[in-house]
Amino acid sequence: MGSTAFYAGSFDPVTVGHIDIVRRAASLFDVVVVGVGVNPSKRGWFSPEQRVELFQSALHDAGLHAKFVVFSGLAVTAAADAGATVLLRGLRGPGDIDMELRNAAGNRDLAEFETLWLAADPRWSFVSSSLVKEIASCSGDVSRYVPAAALRAIEAHLQTPGSG
Ligand code: ADP
Repeated sequence: MGSTAFYAGSFDPVTVGHIDIVRRAASLFDVVVVGVGVNPSKRGWFSPEQRVELFQSALHDAGLHAKFVVFSGLAVTAAADAGATVLLRGLRGPGDIDMELRNAAGNRDLAEFETLWLAADPRWSFVSSSLVKEIASCSGDVSRYVPAAALRAIEAHLQTPGSG
């Protein structure tokens, strides 16, 4: 059986940092499944389906491939359903470590799932979906931080009355 990694996140929207993680994971695992997590109490800028579409389109442009699932609830449940054996995360810096260590311990305790982290490329370690949205909301240029389709979606979102 091939190795399958489950890369969970909000991806609201996908950034160059997320694409970099999938690119590097592609050489480590046979299959990468991107799990777009839906948190009912956190409404994002984009619907889960749109987040999948934007991520997929960026991977396509980069010549990469992943499977996609939208899930709510526990990542380990979605990962097991997807046939994954490993949870994959990106580590941007010390700020991520505390929560990541707790999540990893919880996921081992709950479901005996191991978590692997890839260190963010230093070029993109400051890039997060929330920072991108903050900059874009203030009319800043985020074209270096997000793939082309996500940039168009951000622009469209900001032109929608009541957005922000
Ligand atoms: P979450 O809300 O689960 O943190 P995100 O969409 O913000 O979801 O991130 C999903 C995953 O991608 C997390 O593991 C996060 O650490 C990682 N990640 C986010 N931005 C980057 C980046 N610039 N470089 C590497 N990994 C990143």
